[in-house]
Amino acid sequence: MVKRAAPSRVPHRLRHEVKGVLLSEAQIAARVRALARQITRDFASREMVVVALLNGTVMFLADLIRHIPLPMRLDFIGVSSYGAGTQSRALEFTKALRLDVRGRDVLLVDDILDTGKTMSAVLAKLRRLNPRRIKVCVLLDKKARRTERVQAHYVGFEIPDEFVVGYGLDFAERYRNLPFIAVLHPAMHAAPNP
Ligand code: 5GP
Ligand code: MG
Repeated sequence: MVKRAAPSRVPHRLRHEVKGVLLSEAQIAARVRALARQITRDFASREMVVVALLNGTVMFLADLIRHIPLPMRLDFIGVSSYGAGTQSRALEFTKALRLDVRGRDVLLVDDILDTGKTMSAVLAKLRRLNPRRIKVCVLLDKKARRTERVQAHYVGFEIPDEFVVGYGLDFAERYRNLPFIAVLHPAMHAAPNP
């Protein structure tokens, strides 16, 4: 578990929207580099295919892969649990994989592992394409919320059961551009049109 940073670090303009900074830009940067080093060691022998889930992985992915100095191909799967709220709902695939992953070593990247429903659905889809192996990498893991039997091989941070935004993660498509990860103010969950 990570310790909560002082709430004073929340920019003034966001003080009614986010409760506190959970992970600072520097903390994230250091951890992402460590993950990249680990992945580089594990994937060094064969060309890898990185498959990232849209849209929450944008920042994490960009920072991660620039520190993996291996030949790789990159593609995306679009998946959204539609609805603007903070609860996972029914899954909708919005973009299919274009690259052929048959016989390939795949690194599957997502922003956060929560109940595990998204990851288990995506894993089932990917496995049908017969890759040689699939390793899962997530920036955040809310272990306490897991209902599915999925596990990530590479985890940036284990976090408590709170709704977080920033560094690619959204609430109703907002806050993705924050360079840090913050806990959403509980009052925001109840907002009729956030
Ligand atoms: P799961 O299917 O594992 O329950 O949920 C995974 C998806 O739900 C993530 O890819 C993410 O889009 C969303 N999600 C789960 N927890 C959070 C959170 O704390 N903040 C944000 N922004 N999204 C979350
Ligand atoms: Mg997501």
